[in-house]
Amino acid sequence: MTLRILEVPCLGDNYAYVVTQSGSTQALVIDPSEAGPVTHELGDRGLDLVAILTTHHHHDHVGGNLKLSHDHPGLAVYAHGGAGRPVPGQTHEVAHEVVFQTAGIQITPLHVPGHTLDAVAYLIEDALFTGDTLFVAGCGRLFEGSAAQMHHSLCNVLAALPDDTRIYCGHEYTVQNLRFAATVEPDNAAIRNKLEWALEQTERGQPTVPSTLHDERATNPFLRAAVPAVAARYDNDPPVEVFAAIRRAKDHF
Ligand SMILES: [Zn+2]
Ligand SMILES: [Zn+2]
Repeated sequence: MTLRILEVPCLGDNYAYVVTQSGSTQALVIDPSEAGPVTHELGDRGLDLVAILTTHHHHDHVGGNLKLSHDHPGLAVYAHGGAGRPVPGQTHEVAHEVVFQTAGIQITPLHVPGHTLDAVAYLIEDALFTGDTLFVAGCGRLFEGSAAQMHHSLCNVLAALPDDTRIYCGHEYTVQNLRFAATVEPDNAAIRNKLEWALEQTERGQPTVPSTLHDERATNPFLRAAVPAVAARYDNDPPVEVFAAIRRAKDHF
């Protein structure tokens, strides 16, 4: 069986993802910001929704949960829901590396606090759904966690996966992220080339997801705090401090 991943643009710049195995009519959806576009995609493809996977509690990632739960009785809604803070419609709590199965698909949740404390990335085969933790060439703001937590989540948890891991993130922020990345590393040709490509994709109305971990290691400043050329611009401080300084600079970019 082959995994099929359908990108569903929602709101202004969010992505929900409908995931199914070829030959199966069962599907799950990751981060339905709104129900309408997801329902439309399911109808077009003749798919039955059996589960929602939630990366974190922000409204632009759970906005469609209640409507979808209402329209699909028995729908399973998975989220971290830590600290007694379940997401709308939540039925199941996930935990770090506790593998589960739904829609005939095996899922490994990875707890990645930083953007929020309940942030989870979901690994399905070689596809990683990162929500607002890892973006193409960027990372989420530190709303709840510390720089040290986010650095650990990105560089020790997610970056431990293989190079060819495909990265499906929660927003189309790529062009802006690469413009910022080019200010951190003006001499990095991989960043310049990817920016050129991302601008072309955007002009054609095409998404820039998925990326790969290989690409992110080469272009994402938040995975590159330990690279000598980057650290040198920040007094060769320890990686966590370099990471925090880059994050602060991005907040004001
Ligand atoms: Zn968020
Ligand atoms: Zn978001």
